[in-house]
Amino acid sequence: MKPSVFQHCVLTWFDRHGRKDLPWQTDITPYRVWLSETMLQQTQVVTVIPYFQAFTARFPDLSKLAHADLDEVLQLWSGLGYYARARNLHKAAQIIHAQGHFPDTLIELMALPGIGKSTAGAILSIAFNKSTPILDGNVKRVLARFYAISGWPGNTQVSQQLWAISANLTPEQRVAEYTQAMMDLGATVCTRSKPRCEMCPLESGCLARQMRSTADFPAPRPSKLLPVKKLVFLLLHNNQQQIFLEKRPPTGIWGGLWSLPEFASTGDASDWCLANNMRIIHQQSDIVHRHTFSHYHLDYTPLTIETDHSCGHVAEDDRFFWHNDQHINTLGLPAPIKTLLLQHLNRGK
Ligand code: SF4
Repeated sequence: MKPSVFQHCVLTWFDRHGRKDLPWQTDITPYRVWLSETMLQQTQVVTVIPYFQAFTARFPDLSKLAHADLDEVLQLWSGLGYYARARNLHKAAQIIHAQGHFPDTLIELMALPGIGKSTAGAILSIAFNKSTPILDGNVKRVLARFYAISGWPGNTQVSQQLWAISANLTPEQRVAEYTQAMMDLGATVCTRSKPRCEMCPLESGCLARQMRSTADFPAPRPSKLLPVKKLVFLLLHNNQQQIFLEKRPPTGIWGGLWSLPEFASTGDASDWCLANNMRIIHQQSDIVHRHTFSHYHLDYTPLTIETDHSCGHVAEDDRFFWHNDQHINTLGLPAPIKTLLLQHLNRGK
């Protein structure tokens, strides 16, 4: 199929069936496109919508985000996962604000923290109407199936092949609609499982469809066994309805969020309490829970300890702090930790 025919099929479908009322499709600005594309990385539209609305209500423009406190940014991101995205967004907003204009070239955009080639392409095509290809997960799936490209798209050679195809197909005219259409087609028609080929504007030319092998494209990531990390999370609660939390370092897993102190064993956790003059009134350990990150499984055992200790910081360390129960919802917390805390607090009601 010629690129012009491919583009025509996709755009005609978009005109009739594409989504045009998502929150980031109105009042289009580079900031809003960048924010939505960042939120949509590894996250579905339906999950992103309320986060996008809350975020833009609090930070309606780049200047507001650049001047925001990182804690507040992380709190609004809480539950969306992949927190490096929020930290990079905040850092990049400060850089752009200092530069005085929103970058409109691939090189400038990709120099910013957290902006890869596909996100930069989406910003340029949707916000600046510049003909630039994208290759997010949805587009990879459509192209890998249409051209029956074998191999895992994370492989460098496969990725280069898909980028070349995407660049060849990206039109000069109506590029913003074309980009939205390709993302939409992958999200709503050429879905990961059970693609709705009979509704697809590309059906007549799609090789995977012709071979009845849509499930084989794109090839999955070669399986590898993820390592398992084990730890104990100490859920320390006192009789003044306060919970003891630790601020995590600014980078790395859950960077900058509030979390529960971690220990290698339940014995280490209770020894630490005693060493910090925290009288243990009651202690109970829970079953092992599993949270899977992209590169390892975290098997954690929650250990709940009731104490009568209540002074602000412990061991003169600013990372540790007692927070009132009722403030838990206002803090930036990783989703598994928030779940543990809410389950614990609801148990006491
Ligand atoms: Fe995807 Fe089916 Fe369309 Fe091919 S015909 S692009 S597999 S939805």
